[in-house]
Amino acid sequence: MTDLRAVGAPPRLEWLVSTVAKVHNETRRARTLVLDVPLWPGHRAGQHVDVRLVAEDGYQAQRSYSIASPPESPSLELTVERLDDGEVSPYLCDVLRVGDGLEIRGPIGGYFVWDVAQGGPLFLVAGGSGIVPLMAMMRHYAAAPNELRADVPVRLLYSARTLDDVIYRDELEMGSRVDARVSLALTRDAPAGWGGYRRRIDRAMLEEVGWPPNESPRVFVCGPTPLVESVANLLVEIGHVPSRIRTERFGPTG
Ligand SMILES: Cc1cc2nc3c(=O)[nH]c(=O)nc-3n(C[C@H](O)[C@H](O)[C@H](O)COP(=O)(O)OP(=O)(O)OC[C@H]3O[C@@H](n4cnc5c(N)ncnc54)[C@H](O)[C@@H]3O)c2cc1C
Repeated sequence: MTDLRAVGAPPRLEWLVSTVAKVHNETRRARTLVLDVPLWPGHRAGQHVDVRLVAEDGYQAQRSYSIASPPESPSLELTVERLDDGEVSPYLCDVLRVGDGLEIRGPIGGYFVWDVAQGGPLFLVAGGSGIVPLMAMMRHYAAAPNELRADVPVRLLYSARTLDDVIYRDELEMGSRVDARVSLALTRDAPAGWGGYRRRIDRAMLEEVGWPPNESPRVFVCGPTPLVESVANLLVEIGHVPSRIRTERFGPTG
């Protein structure tokens, strides 16, 4: 029999039982789970894990969740947005408690990842919970030594329904903590006197916020499928090279 390891197949990931060490609500619909994971092998910014729930009758449900914490963090953080008619996210947001066990498998993914040593400029575009892996990249960047960060400017364009739906709002508003130029686009309601964008992400916005193609930014786009496809198409229309654009789709709808 062929030994798959000998021909370069990745080792099979085992399910690990993590323990919920802390939880905190990011918004009305999104919650961060801080997990202690014995034997966690480490991860790269942008990777995700699979989460498995097993009912008493043996029924299983499995979903993917991006890792919010940077590689430098001692614990693993996931941020889950509750879909009211969903199977798994309401359990993770409303039922799971500190001290509970949670089966996870990972880290997964080698494409939608960024290390500060790869350089920039870095242009991050998120919709909704698509901010999660991009936050891992910004946190990784913030933790990097100055000599690696020096030539890597970071910009984030983040689309959310309302200001209250902005995940990691405190951290993003204090730009110094993430050290990125943050632009918000609110699609539903904006508070009186709102100075940011108040529409869906469009071509003009991408041109205003991002770098021109001749500066060859590395672009990461993450969120609901329609947003990701629209943004990726617009970036190519503007003239960005497709190989510099990496995308991750979270779900079927916005
Ligand atoms: C690589 C990857 C990383 C992900 N990372 C995150 C993350 O960090 N945080 C996070 O909250 N989610 C993330 N997701 C989405 C997550 O895997 C689930 O799809 C989501 O939590 C819904 O699961 P559910 O069981 O609650 O809903 P389901 O029972 O699967 O679906 C319920 C309803 O919602 C629709 N739906 C399913 N997924 C979505 C979605 N993402 N957006 C809108 N509608 C949807 C379905 O069509 C259905 O109508 C990620 C997905 C992928 C592929």
